[in-house]
Amino acid sequence: MMLPDSWIAAVHFARTRWCLDFRDRARLEAWQQVRLQRFIREVLPRAPYYRRRPAKALADIPLMDKATMMAEFEDRNTCGIRLDKALDIGLEAERTRDFRPLLGDFTVGLSSGTSGNRGVFLVSRGERLHWAGVLLARALPQHLLGRLFLPWVPALRVAFFMRANSNLYATLSSRRIDFTFHDLMLGVEPAVPKLNRSQPDVLVGPPSLLRALAAEIRAGRLDIAPSHVLSVADVLEDSDRAAIHAAFHVPTHQLYQATEGFLGYTCERGTLHLNESCVHIEPDWLDAGRSRFHPIVTDFSRDTQLIVRYRLNDVLRLATEPCACGRAELAIEAIEGRADEVLYLPARGTGQAVLIYPDLIRRTMLLAGPEVREFDLVQDGMFLTLGLLTEGERSAAVSRVAAEFDALWRTLGVCPPTMIFTDWHMPPPGGKRRRVRRKSAPEGLTCMP
Ligand SMILES: [Zn+2]
Repeated sequence: MMLPDSWIAAVHFARTRWCLDFRDRARLEAWQQVRLQRFIREVLPRAPYYRRRPAKALADIPLMDKATMMAEFEDRNTCGIRLDKALDIGLEAERTRDFRPLLGDFTVGLSSGTSGNRGVFLVSRGERLHWAGVLLARALPQHLLGRLFLPWVPALRVAFFMRANSNLYATLSSRRIDFTFHDLMLGVEPAVPKLNRSQPDVLVGPPSLLRALAAEIRAGRLDIAPSHVLSVADVLEDSDRAAIHAAFHVPTHQLYQATEGFLGYTCERGTLHLNESCVHIEPDWLDAGRSRFHPIVTDFSRDTQLIVRYRLNDVLRLATEPCACGRAELAIEAIEGRADEVLYLPARGTGQAVLIYPDLIRRTMLLAGPEVREFDLVQDGMFLTLGLLTEGERSAAVSRVAAEFDALWRTLGVCPPTMIFTDWHMPPPGGKRRRVRRKSAPEGLTCMP
């Protein structure tokens, strides 16, 4: 007999929320080891790539990334699904915006990214229900739980903005969850009357979209009062947080979710924790002081498309203090974006590469004053092109920005690059917002991969 989807998801929900609530780091790690050992023994050999490379421990297994995953797609999944078959379904769904078709029993989706850098994800029914249960267990605050389980209160209304829908997200829809997908590609305007009608309890979307909705509130066109706001898909910056809070009067929580898995969530204290009861994350340290790392992800709860020692480009900054909530899962100060969001400039004197993380750039822009409404920055060698959207007198804002950057270069002891100021342009709807991007490093400087 096949159990109904909602029952299975509910079991995963309860187990994650109440059984996998680790408060002791040693217990969490011991539990991870048990799961990893079982995964290495029973699941890995089901994919040809790993069958040819028997391993006893995680450290024996080669690293992977998006390029290797895509190049050896068929070899690295346990069902022999070919990349071209999966891509056909994914691309067709993107074109028609009908995200329901399955490949056999599997949900297929494309991850965002530029066309040369596309990723495909593949999940079975079981994985889909597990994901839904875990996600709800980690994302829903206490005050909304009754809406899920008490039949006499109205169902939970969730408004969800994403670049693409998926059967994965549709799994969240049930008798207790009134789930509405809004297509990010259509922009904010068509969503406003729908939101006014549906009055969502939970609002989920990328920070740029949440900000656009906050602006609609200020303009008096949007009149909703969600009690829980979740930011997904992009880095949430402090300025986003402030603008969203001013409109909705609730803190913005974060879901750190990617093709590679559901990697993190914010707790009731607002701290981002790695979702270590579901995925194993090894830090690939970027600095001697061990504060920043690329996560290497092993998702021991998936058994179709295998994510094993998958090195992500994201840069995570560890929190300096453990979180007061008491969770044993690692606390993260910030997700600093991808490796190409880190700028490189030569140190004065030695010429050695100095890494400039995007939070430093954002802080500098913040110091330049409230007249700077939006910005984006591209490094091309020793040239930095800075697109600015300003309020009031532009030349005054530009000279304040220039002065703040001069101060930053002095503090860091780097050779100052040539700054080029241009106008800021709105990213296309559905496009990823990249505030800071390194197109190329100055000649002679070596970049990390
Ligand atoms: Zn916490």
